[in-house]
Amino acid sequence: MEQIIEVNIGASPVPKSCKINSPKLKEPMFKRFVEDLNKDRKKDMTFFYNNLDTLEIKYIPPYKGICYDAAAQYSMDKNIIEVVCGDRVDTFIDHELLHMASSTVDEEGNIYSGFIQARGELGIGYGLDEGYTSLLDDRYFLNRTEEKPQRNQETYCVVKYIAKLVEEFVGQDKMENLYFSANLLELIEFLAPYTSVEQSTQFIHDIDEILIGFEQKRFKRFFLCLRKFAECSRFMAEAWYARVTEGYIDGKLSDEEYKACLEDIKKMLSNRLKLIHFPIKSKSNSKYYKVIKSRVDKKLMEHYKQLMLDELVKEGKIPNTEEAKQEEYKKLDKRLYKMYGKRKDTIDTN
Ligand SMILES: [Zn+2]
Repeated sequence: MEQIIEVNIGASPVPKSCKINSPKLKEPMFKRFVEDLNKDRKKDMTFFYNNLDTLEIKYIPPYKGICYDAAAQYSMDKNIIEVVCGDRVDTFIDHELLHMASSTVDEEGNIYSGFIQARGELGIGYGLDEGYTSLLDDRYFLNRTEEKPQRNQETYCVVKYIAKLVEEFVGQDKMENLYFSANLLELIEFLAPYTSVEQSTQFIHDIDEILIGFEQKRFKRFFLCLRKFAECSRFMAEAWYARVTEGYIDGKLSDEEYKACLEDIKKMLSNRLKLIHFPIKSKSNSKYYKVIKSRVDKKLMEHYKQLMLDELVKEGKIPNTEEAKQEEYKKLDKRLYKMYGKRKDTIDTN
């Protein structure tokens, strides 16, 4: 069952004034953030300056009081960054400052933060927002510390990948502007003519599902994640298809260019999230498979097998007949294992 979208997406509030004279700007941490971020092109720093005066940074002992294995977090409603103390601060602080620089709260208490819109427990856009924040962190602050490149590669990698796809479609300048003005509404309005408002909103929701299931390592939601990832790829492919076809009809693309675009779209469509990307801290692939087999919902497993069958038919690898499908179905466990496991005798059949 698809999730019901419960949040009305609205326009982010336009700030009345911008307090650019905070004495905090003299602190090296903030100074270098502003400088590095605006190196190539000036960003909209309104929310950053407005939040800076009241921003509180709380240093806490390693891994105390912060959700799962995060090393820092930003509370949008309280304007507080909590970060583990020690020399790792430099690795994490810019990511949190990006959240802060893209956040504002309106008079009714609605939060607008990058691509998030939230009120209390209800919210949308967390997945795209984390993905894009990580992408910007890579783009502007990757070399802050020695451990940062490795660390950034390991965190939010899937939502970051999707955020990159969105940026390629929207354009870097526009996407950055939308992020720093917390304008999810305009992003949806930009995507809608190529798809629809409903599909675009669902797309944003799907990335939220991926954030929860994949990045936060909730195994039971894993197969849902695989499906959502495929749906996100399909959404972007459809948007590109609508755009390039329009360009072709308008004579902006030659036959050759159009053909090349269609090839790229085909690749995007066949893009699948591999179990191997799943960040289980284990050395052996067969262990992944064991974990998945033992912890994943049987129904989802079944669903995934059906998806694989459809895929094989679509790719022309098996004929579209009941017999062929049934025969392949019997082999699917082996195929799943081949993709994710190493030795047959290690499969956990419980
Ligand atoms: Zn974050």
